[in-house]
Amino acid sequence: MGKKEKGRIQSIRGTRDILPPESDRWLWLEERCRCVLGRFGYSEIRGPLFEHTELFQKGTGEGTDIVLKQMYTFQDRAGRSLTLRPEGTPSVARAVIERGLLKRAKVLKLYYIGPMFRYDRPQAGRYRQFDQLGAELVGVPGVEGDAESVHLHVMLLRELGLSQFTVKVNSVGCSKCRPTYSRLMRERLSDELENLCEDCRERFERNPLRVLDCKVKGCKEVAQGVPPILESLCDECRSQFEEFKARLGLIGLSFQEDPGLVRGLDYYTKAAFEIHHDLLGAQSALGGGGRYDGLIELYGGPPTPAVGFAAGLDRILLSVEKEEVAVPPALPVEVYVASVSQAGREKCFVLASSLREKFRVEVDLLGRSLQAQMKAANSVATRFSVIIGEEELSSGIYTVRDMESGEQEKVPEQDLREYLRRRLGL
Ligand code: AMP
Repeated sequence: MGKKEKGRIQSIRGTRDILPPESDRWLWLEERCRCVLGRFGYSEIRGPLFEHTELFQKGTGEGTDIVLKQMYTFQDRAGRSLTLRPEGTPSVARAVIERGLLKRAKVLKLYYIGPMFRYDRPQAGRYRQFDQLGAELVGVPGVEGDAESVHLHVMLLRELGLSQFTVKVNSVGCSKCRPTYSRLMRERLSDELENLCEDCRERFERNPLRVLDCKVKGCKEVAQGVPPILESLCDECRSQFEEFKARLGLIGLSFQEDPGLVRGLDYYTKAAFEIHHDLLGAQSALGGGGRYDGLIELYGGPPTPAVGFAAGLDRILLSVEKEEVAVPPALPVEVYVASVSQAGREKCFVLASSLREKFRVEVDLLGRSLQAQMKAANSVATRFSVIIGEEELSSGIYTVRDMESGEQEKVPEQDLREYLRRRLGL
């Protein structure tokens, strides 16, 4: 049952209606992003918005905040436990195995754009339904893949005119060295349990690394006393981390090392990164990702190296506002067809309908006066108006007004399309 106020059903907390003109900004954002993804050779994968709950329990991880607290899980009519996807990577990994994608190509470059669902406390930049763009590079074991993934994320932001952001990197180790670090963290934290928040006391048991990225003041202080994970890395992870940073340097990407960057999900291994906007407040992470070499195998596929990231489009648009990027306006109306009297309405309707094969056209649907129609034409900022009165009706020669200069010309119907094409520079 929807929440009712004064008898009206309202939207669910943490969801939004993206209305024009904001929706035009979303279109622009997605178009620019798809263009960059194309330059990097990525193709789109469109998966379902809901999956078997087990997919996230197993992949995202039983002990993660997402699985423990944030999933929209429900039983369908057949009693199956299903979950609205809280993130995209598990679905991509599942599809790679289920659809046999690695039989077609050694390297897969797949991206998705779409809504994710997390039951989190809504605030500025944090919603219960939000949009992510994710890009997954599957089948590449080396650090070039890691660096390319970071580069792609950075290029997406630059393409949108953003510049005030910081790339943070770390290594979260592998299945060989991470357990050693987890043990060390447990040892260090066991005397400090009373200084940790309730969430971190739980994390202490399940996933002590997560204490490192807790935002609570007491936990931050405790975390400062713990040696960084980099000191516990095995030789392979350590040298890969150095090479990863060197590759970023080679392509001129500046970054900060952040030993507290551990990412919230279980499947990450080795290179991890996040990009934060410098002007957004508490929710400053624009996106993050890293290497997840074990995930496809965990789901029953062959051992497959992979790296990827997810970027939050809602926050990216907030950054576009913060940096006052000039977003190009949506495509304006090109022609407004106006009728002087009721007699011309039918002709206007027919003319507008046929002009729409080539042009963006508006016509009055409310039987308004010419004055009201011209007001409407101005409000949609049309470039030209075609005005049809008695004389135009009988002669078939129309008055075309250039709405910028106010100049008018007479144009016969058979020449109208060519005239408009020429004047609009099409
Ligand atoms: P994550 O995989 O959790 O690091 O999410 C990747 C990106 O998605 C984050 O850096 C945010 O930009 C965005 N994001 C995650 N959760 C939310 C949310 N609840 N509302 C809006 N954006 C989000």
